[in-house]
Amino acid sequence: MNPAEMFSEVMRWARLGLNMLEQVRIPPTPARFTVAYMHQTGQMADLSMALNRLIAHDKLSGQAVDEIYDQFFGRFIEEAELRDASQRIERTVTDVVDCIAAASDSAEHYGSVLSDFVGSSEIYNDADLGKAAAAVLDETRLMAAANRRLEERLQMSSRDIELLRQHLERLEREASLDALTGIANRKSFDTALRAAIVHANNESRPLTLLMVDIDHFKQFNDLHGHLLGDQVLKLVAHNMIKCIKGQDIAARYGGEEFGVILPSTDLDDGVTVADNIRRYVAAKQLVNRKTGRTLGQITLSIGAAEYRPGETAAALVNRADEALYLAKESGRNRVVSETELSTA
Ligand code: GH3
Ligand code: MG
Ligand code: MG
Repeated sequence: MNPAEMFSEVMRWARLGLNMLEQVRIPPTPARFTVAYMHQTGQMADLSMALNRLIAHDKLSGQAVDEIYDQFFGRFIEEAELRDASQRIERTVTDVVDCIAAASDSAEHYGSVLSDFVGSSEIYNDADLGKAAAAVLDETRLMAAANRRLEERLQMSSRDIELLRQHLERLEREASLDALTGIANRKSFDTALRAAIVHANNESRPLTLLMVDIDHFKQFNDLHGHLLGDQVLKLVAHNMIKCIKGQDIAARYGGEEFGVILPSTDLDDGVTVADNIRRYVAAKQLVNRKTGRTLGQITLSIGAAEYRPGETAAALVNRADEALYLAKESGRNRVVSETELSTA
């Protein structure tokens, strides 16, 4: 593609992206435009999948597109931090290597002073011997001081490296967890699902995926406010964790939606777990601690699908998603298995 063709191609993507947002009356902030533009380029399959999913369910909104932006571009900030930390480690290691090189130079020098002294000791007279011994003593002192400096330097560097290691560990942890609920985030969900699929294929084990969505959550937010809504998200996340075990992974998939990966679990058992989660959450009577007011009950709709050998993660997510939407259509507060899809 020559520069003129490239220019018109980029302009085309930009216009299509802008039109797409304009059509659904979503104000094109830079973040939303980025998502719409990248979707038009077709260069980010996962991003397009997330966007198409919203369109398919008629859920395209400014907030939903902002969320996609955070999922796919928010991590650049973390990457910048990681880059910074790894550059600092590199600098510390270079310092240590320089220090060791300097120490080895002075050790070599000391060695040559010693061997000169030993080599020439036969021809020294007493006075010269005294002088030469004093020179060796000076060198020994210098050498000891250099060693002490090296030791201090190494101790400092090892403290620095330990701090950096802890910093990296924290960044890594934060990058994989959802900031609000503290459970796995979308990024870890994608990674974990891919790993679970590899495991299911290699070990010929079943694998079931649950897609979980809070019912009428918009209404809850409108009625009680976003802050209490956030508390509910935390509560649902923590209660969901209580209903799973072992290698199972519960993640915040986005907004008020969660994904639960159940390795070595067939569809029937997966549906049982899903129903446990549904009943456990529905049994909670929510009370506003500040006002003592009852907030009622939170219910969940859940779709369950079992992995079919050879299919992609996206295909599995789609099937669980379809089952979830069937659960919504058939009245909410229920679990629908993919087996019910063909009869729908
Ligand atoms: P349905 O039963 O069909 O799922 O209805 P719904 O209202 O739950 O679904 P809808 O997709 O219309 O609305 C989702 C709501 O979830 C809207 C949005 O404000 C809320 N939501 C998404 N993320 C958050 C969040 O982080 N905190 C809070 N408090 N609310 C959120
Ligand atoms: Mg919902
Ligand atoms: Mg939803």
